[in-house]
Amino acid sequence: MAKEEKIEKAQIKRFFPPKKKVCRFCQMNVREIDYKNVDILRRYIPERGKISPRRTTGTCSFHQRRLAQAIKRARIMALLPFIAD
Ligand SMILES: [Zn+2]
Repeated sequence: MAKEEKIEKAQIKRFFPPKKKVCRFCQMNVREIDYKNVDILRRYIPERGKISPRRTTGTCSFHQRRLAQAIKRARIMALLPFIAD
């Protein structure tokens, strides 16, 4: 059965559960990302302090650019770390 084969393959690929990635900012209908909104920006910065790439967060290109800009501004304002030790 071709259908069963497909299901098996999907299960093998699942090292970690496949979450459907949708841009959270598009979902919330946000156009501009405020650099003072540290709680939201923190979600896109793992322990290392680097900005998460689009492929891991699912953010669209428009919002990824806004996000990167906001994070950089927040760093300058000392709201976020440049590099986490
Ligand atoms: Zn978006």
